[in-house]
Amino acid sequence: MTADRDTETQARSEERAVTRVWILTLVIAVGSAVLIAGSPLLGTSLRAAPWWTVVLVALGYSLSERLVFHVEYRNDALTFSISEVPTAFALIFLGPLPALAARLVGSLAVIVPRNRPAPHKLCFNSGLFAVELALAYFVVGAMVGANPGSDIAVVVAVALATGLTTLVSLVGVSAAITCFRGRFFPTLFEELRTASTTAPIATLAAAMAVIPVLLDPRLAPLGLAPIWLMWLVTMQHGRLTQRHRDLESVHDLSRTVNRSLHLDEILADALPSITDALRADRASVVLIDPEGNVAAQHHVGGGVDADGSPSDPIRIEVAIADAGGQLGTLAVEGRSVAATVFDEADRKRAERYADQLAPTIRNAWLYEAIEHSALHDGLTGALNRRGFDAAVEFRLHSVVDQPGEYAALILDLDRFKEINDTFGHHIGDRVLIEFAERVRSVIEPDDLFGRFGGDEFALFVHRSDPDAVRRLADRIISDSHDALTIDEYQVVVAASVGIAFARPGGEDAAQLIRRSDIAMYAAKRTHVGFETYRADMDRRTPERLALLADLRRALDGEAITVHYQPKIDIASETVVGAEALVRWEHPTAGNISPADFVRVAEESGLIRQLTDQVLCHAVRSVSEWVAQGFELDVSINLSALDLVDEELVERIESRLDEFDISNEYLTLEITESSLLVDTPRTLATVERLVESGVRLSLDDFGTGYSSLSYLRRLPAQELKVDRSFVSSLMLDQQDEVIVRSTIDLGHHLGMAVVAEGVENEPTLARLAELGCDLGQGYGISRPLPNTRFERWLRTTPYAVRRSDSHRDRIVALR
Ligand code: C2E
Ligand code: CA
Ligand code: CA
Repeated sequence: MTADRDTETQARSEERAVTRVWILTLVIAVGSAVLIAGSPLLGTSLRAAPWWTVVLVALGYSLSERLVFHVEYRNDALTFSISEVPTAFALIFLGPLPALAARLVGSLAVIVPRNRPAPHKLCFNSGLFAVELALAYFVVGAMVGANPGSDIAVVVAVALATGLTTLVSLVGVSAAITCFRGRFFPTLFEELRTASTTAPIATLAAAMAVIPVLLDPRLAPLGLAPIWLMWLVTMQHGRLTQRHRDLESVHDLSRTVNRSLHLDEILADALPSITDALRADRASVVLIDPEGNVAAQHHVGGGVDADGSPSDPIRIEVAIADAGGQLGTLAVEGRSVAATVFDEADRKRAERYADQLAPTIRNAWLYEAIEHSALHDGLTGALNRRGFDAAVEFRLHSVVDQPGEYAALILDLDRFKEINDTFGHHIGDRVLIEFAERVRSVIEPDDLFGRFGGDEFALFVHRSDPDAVRRLADRIISDSHDALTIDEYQVVVAASVGIAFARPGGEDAAQLIRRSDIAMYAAKRTHVGFETYRADMDRRTPERLALLADLRRALDGEAITVHYQPKIDIASETVVGAEALVRWEHPTAGNISPADFVRVAEESGLIRQLTDQVLCHAVRSVSEWVAQGFELDVSINLSALDLVDEELVERIESRLDEFDISNEYLTLEITESSLLVDTPRTLATVERLVESGVRLSLDDFGTGYSSLSYLRRLPAQELKVDRSFVSSLMLDQQDEVIVRSTIDLGHHLGMAVVAEGVENEPTLARLAELGCDLGQGYGISRPLPNTRFERWLRTTPYAVRRSDSHRDRIVALR
């Protein structure tokens, strides 16, 4: 709608501008006719010349239109032609009418086929030629009339007159531009400013060209010398500056576009730089999908005609393509600023920009695909558990201090299992789809909607007050009492809903969702429809407190240990490193999963101590391995809170120093979600770490949300595909797509890709085919205490990298 209205208004104002140009043309034409009619030189010329001089002058004009000089001077791109030279000859050897004829025929013969100007532009230019010549003849007639014989007077008059033609043409052009854009004086001033460099040169060239001919016509070739010289200088200068500028702008472009992995952001950055660099009016990128259909269009400076003719001299269209095929096209159009058309050099530059864009666009697509399929449920299109958790986490961290209430709701269908058993999975799936549709119709566009597998759904909403949230739950429940019609069946699926409100002052998504889950079970138990979470529903809290006390004791003693799980270079089947995984054997509860107690450590501030102990173990182990001739790296896991600690870098460096271990033996694994916490500080810490020489690995890749822009900014050397995708690689088509795309993306970004969760030999073989660099998982070895790990190193059928082996043969690592 608005776009239509915009184009309409634009078209109307353009029409008015064209009318103004016609009026201007008329004024100019009448003015020049009057001047020429009154010229004292009408029907004669200053010096006699044979008839064919008019042909030479016409050729001179043609040549000067073709021979356009480009010079880069300071920050300006100057473009000028030397039509002053043929004008100088015309003023001396031709009368005004033959001169005008030579100008029109000579110049238009070049301009018309090249620029294909619109009628108003053509007539305006012709009028401008006429008025330039008319005024020049007027000046020459007035000055030389007094001294008809003096060559000096002729040269001076010609120089002044050609100078004047330049000035007149500037005023004329500015007036024409004003018809379109308004603002006459600023335009004129700008034109004068550029001309102040070029006009004197052209005038001088013209004056110097005519002097030899005035002395003796046989000296004519001498007159060409200054033009030739000028041509040489500008060509040389032009080539140098052009090369310099090309490099600079291509470099700039790659810097801007690589900042993001969002297509919109990439193109919003790239297109203006491309139009600027090519001095074009408009640019557009049209992306096509593998079937060849238009997938998206982006443009700046107004639309570019999709069907513009490729041979249009003020249009360039180049393909954006990479080894994987064509991704789209880049088109630039229009040059109202520079008076030239696009040439071969411009096309080459456009191609270079397209080449720059191709890998970036490819990466953005890969990321989009990964992000989407990794985070969504295939059946209902809602977020999957992973996607929902991550999105809630992101919201909780990014939208702080908003008035109103944030709440998570868990919706569970009652008796869904019965439906599945009675009607079959096919109908069961349809029920889930229909139910999801119903929920979608009552929520707001900004609400998050997820499905946690089976018949459990979740919402994350923002409402003005708690009652609005409760009304939403009520609505969903009462809607669910209406039967769904599926084929010939009428199916009723009542829902139970649990609500938990986000607590001010930060809690994580998992906690919030867990609380709404508890509320949902309470609702189910009591058949009340929906329940809101209350602390007394949660019986696990005291247990957690006990755990915390025990953990504190464990950290003070020796109960925290570390296990090592080997990482192999897949292509060479060589063990190249190990991941350190923390272990805690609780005196009564037995082994507690790090997934559980790491959280407790984070919440209680004990994480710093925990990380320190793991780091100390890991670095000591590396020194033992090295002493035994094994050259293995070690990876440790950092928690989000470690990254906020400003002393982290010092802590790590002092540990490495203590055992005299070089920094590049240590890899720090960080998760995408930890990057969401306190971003600027986190990024600063990460940058300092990488500067210090330790390696960085992005753990659990594919499970995060909206962190893609960090990915590009992050100086990580390694990417770990999350084990949930890898372990089902051979079973699930979607997971294979994710793993393959992640490997591609990692390689595009120059990272080594690690697959974790490799549970068997076929998975490893498939990963080798997909070009994955490193593998880790139960299929290779379970995590082992160090003594057993060292025994494993000596007995494993895999090769183990040794200090004497050629490190550089294992390319995947660096
Ligand atoms: P993670 O960093 O993704 O570590 C890999 C986890 O996958 C380990 O679980 C490992 O035992 C398990 N794993 C390895 N191979 C396979 C496989 O083939 N199949 C399957 N299903 N699993 C496999 P673990 O040791 O229980 O650690 C769980 C998580 O706890 C880790 O996930 C990490 O996020 C965290 N964690 C472990 N140690 C530390 C630590 O020292 N500090 C911090 N901050 N977090 C740690
Ligand atoms: Ca890890
Ligand atoms: Ca992991």
